[in-house]
Amino acid sequence: MNEDTISLLTQILSKLETIEKENKALASTVDLITGRVNALAGVKAVRDAAKTTPAPPKTHTVAVRTVTEPEAHPASPTEEASKEAQRPATPATSRIILTTYPGQSGIDPIIMNWGEKDPVKRGPVVVSRAFGTVRRRNAIGAHGGSYSIYHALAMAIKEIKVDHRPDFTNTEPAVNIGPFPQWSDPKKIVAMDPFGHLAPWLYKDYIDKENVEIRPTIAITKAHMRLPELENSVKEGRLKVDGKICLNEFGELAVTKFAVEPVWYLPGVAERFGIDEGTLRRSLFEHTGGSFPELITRGDIKLFMPPIGGLTVYCFGDVSKLSDPNVRLALRVHDECNGSDVFGSDICTCRPYLIFGVEEAVKEAQNGGSGVVIYFRKEGRALGEVTKYLVYNARKRGVDRASEYFKRTENIAGVKDMRFQALMPDILHWLGITKIDRMLSMSNMKHDAIVEQGIPILERVPIPDEMIPADSRVEIDAKIHAGYFTTGKTMSMDELANVKGRGWDDVDH
Ligand SMILES: [Zn+2]
Repeated sequence: MNEDTISLLTQILSKLETIEKENKALASTVDLITGRVNALAGVKAVRDAAKTTPAPPKTHTVAVRTVTEPEAHPASPTEEASKEAQRPATPATSRIILTTYPGQSGIDPIIMNWGEKDPVKRGPVVVSRAFGTVRRRNAIGAHGGSYSIYHALAMAIKEIKVDHRPDFTNTEPAVNIGPFPQWSDPKKIVAMDPFGHLAPWLYKDYIDKENVEIRPTIAITKAHMRLPELENSVKEGRLKVDGKICLNEFGELAVTKFAVEPVWYLPGVAERFGIDEGTLRRSLFEHTGGSFPELITRGDIKLFMPPIGGLTVYCFGDVSKLSDPNVRLALRVHDECNGSDVFGSDICTCRPYLIFGVEEAVKEAQNGGSGVVIYFRKEGRALGEVTKYLVYNARKRGVDRASEYFKRTENIAGVKDMRFQALMPDILHWLGITKIDRMLSMSNMKHDAIVEQGIPILERVPIPDEMIPADSRVEIDAKIHAGYFTTGKTMSMDELANVKGRGWDDVDH
């Protein structure tokens, strides 16, 4: 190559780099616009569905009412709280508000008509105790689920400014979804806010004009994901590289993800469990160490944002197909098992079933249907890892038999399972799902909860035998005996006694 050619090639390369840079800038601008369009489209769609003209929410005056009753005795903590509530809130209040009462001076919750179709008439979920918001709250608890405690810590050590307000620029949903008729059925959605992904945009006036702090409880984004097992799925021909969902020979996938924080409508939650609201409130109050006294004193507040983990939806293919009854849907509902899901522990079938679920969901989407995996933060059957490991020890120190499997958990936790699937189908309603063609789960509890919510399951698909780790036979056979779905054999108690796992001495500590 002579110098001229080299110079020419260098010029071409530099031009190409410029074009690439410009393309990236363009793509990011398009992304930015798409986000805004999604939020606008979402806001318009819910308003159109409600057939109302967009109107700003009625401005509430935050006028401080005065107490007319004379003070006859020294102020009790209740009265102190009342006085505090009357005082124009300042960012640094010196007095602690232990609790509030309905009708108390200064208490002026923003209207909340759960199940109302029109988001303006329904009202925003307001839980913050920030300046300007504390008296307008219509929800008990805090944002962030279990992370609310870290938020409290960050405030305590002044890592977050007292008057910090979130800036939601460019955080709009990556795709538009709904609204679906299920969103305005107060019996179908009781454990999440159907408008949670649009909250800052739907309720902008409350934020801007009334200084009320409102945050989204749902966020929607897009990503690529790579699971090492799926490289094999491509190699073995089960997954095809299509450049759209399965992007390359490594089995890299394009996915739309929805993160959802729990928002409980207490009357609806109580009804799902067949108990009365008072019993639910009392139990939530007592068994969280009395953390949420407003559960008892504020019967007018019907929403509770519990300090628990939420869920993530992984959707493969076109999100708009999820709600189309003419399109096939494959679904896995998976409850967290960190040891297996992330770290590959072989005592259970969690990660293998999760991988199988992802693979089948992708296949369905590639065949023109849609595929969804929903991941719930319910570690160790919602008993947590400490209880889970205690159970492992009890199992492995005795003889780890399938016939004893559930008894070990029950002896320690007092219950076999605390996942209580009754609230799980809410997310299916929210996604607009009306039937499931292939349910990638053997759990009778998940099956029954979904079917009870009026969503038929056409086919149940067990985990293939070859994906079951040897040591996890104890668990899976015990579960099948207890009612888990199988296309194979359900063992008798005698046979279960012969299904044994690895002993204590074999466990590599
Ligand atoms: Zn597991």
